Amino acid sequence: MTTHQDLIDRDRKVTFHASTHLRDFANGDAAGRVITGGKGINIIDKDGREFIDGFAGLYCVNIGYGRTEVAEAIYQQALEMAYYHTYVGHSNEPQIALSEKILELAGPGMSKVYYGLGGSDANETQLKLVRYYNNVLGRPQKKKVISRQRGYHGSGLATGSLTGLKAFHDQFDLPMAGILHTEAPYYYHRAAEQQGMSEREFSAWCAGKLEEMILAEGPDTVAAFIGEPVLGTGGIVPPPEGYWEAIQAVLDKYDILLIADEVVCGFGRIGADFGSHKYGIKPDLITVAKGLTSAYQPLSGVIVGDRVWKVLEQGTGELGPIGHGWTYSGHALGCAAALANLAIIEREKLTQNAVDTGGYLQQRMQQAFGNHPIVGEARGVGMLAALEFSVDPESRCHFDPSLKVGPRIAAAAMEENLIARAMPQGDILGFAPPLIATRDDIDEIVARTERAVNKVTDELVREGALQTA
Ligand code: PLP
Repeated sequence: MTTHQDLIDRDRKVTFHASTHLRDFANGDAAGRVITGGKGINIIDKDGREFIDGFAGLYCVNIGYGRTEVAEAIYQQALEMAYYHTYVGHSNEPQIALSEKILELAGPGMSKVYYGLGGSDANETQLKLVRYYNNVLGRPQKKKVISRQRGYHGSGLATGSLTGLKAFHDQFDLPMAGILHTEAPYYYHRAAEQQGMSEREFSAWCAGKLEEMILAEGPDTVAAFIGEPVLGTGGIVPPPEGYWEAIQAVLDKYDILLIADEVVCGFGRIGADFGSHKYGIKPDLITVAKGLTSAYQPLSGVIVGDRVWKVLEQGTGELGPIGHGWTYSGHALGCAAALANLAIIEREKLTQNAVDTGGYLQQRMQQAFGNHPIVGEARGVGMLAALEFSVDPESRCHFDPSLKVGPRIAAAAMEENLIARAMPQGDILGFAPPLIATRDDIDEIVARTERAVNKVTDELVREGALQTA
């Protein structure tokens, strides 16, 4: 019989993994794990050990694991017509129905959908559309894109450049020219309260910084701004009050397109169909992935607003067919999975559950960690939450990074059979449970997290890294 260890050993020889110490994994010094199944909010490894998946994979398995309805939709579609390309006007039935559904959810002002496989390639498409748009409008110099520090938009060359996290730039000569990063809307981190700023004032300050950057670069050189409605991988940071309103006003003033990267927020995670709806953002372009299929198939999409669409149409009128496309765009199996997934989200009212049970998650996190000696902030919205650890919650000072407090707490949670994610920057533990989670599930997640945080707190006291607990 093949054991778990056999599989891990074989894997070490032939595969390398994202965000992994390559040499340690290959040598057997870093852990591996083979996942063999999942049901509801739980996943199971080859040893039969069951974990609560408090991060829904990578914030994507919104309908939970083991949904036969989606598996059957994929199977039926595979029997009927698994694939044909979608170049030069070819289509398939699930793609057509899915575009109709996405545009219905996106609401007025959105014209068309184009598909990819993941968030990164969808954002590549966005960058090309932005260039094309300004070329058609006769503004070839208007090409720079402003993203944000701590933003996450993918890990290709261009999309890794949009990402505002050091780990994704170092060693890859990124960011590429023409991609800039403005301030993150990170009220807590900037300890803005200590400077006496209200959230609204801080939002105005962020918008002012953006305007300064645009003016320094020259407004006629800046084409687009990209942002996640709620900063995700950069620390799960909901926008401070008035943030999007203030940013949008600056973008409108200088005729700069707004790309809302809804890869995490889209399809219910924060208690709205789109984060843009929740925060009153009026994007020109929207990126979707993850929750679109709940990861039962890889599928992403760009949703193009009327303003951009008119120019794209005009462009092909002048220039001929657009020189862009992916082999698997509009893949019939992905679209069939998405339709089945969106039907479940609608039928089971999972977006509303992200409001109700998500609200309970926020409340429980506050109760458990609002006054904890190493928690600087418990924050979140809907079914997205984070704990930011601090050696002194009053002054919000971070722990010495060499203590690896965030990863240690994530490891302690694993011992409790709970998956929570040590976010890549800072000592932040992220939660994004499947949207099917119940109040009992949330109680269990919070109880296991408390045990993990308390265990590491005790260790830090013993090590002398913390005065008292
Ligand atoms: N955009 C956002 C907001 C994301 O969170 C991610 C991935 O986590 C991406 C884009 C990139 O998606 P992918 O990993 O599917 O390429």
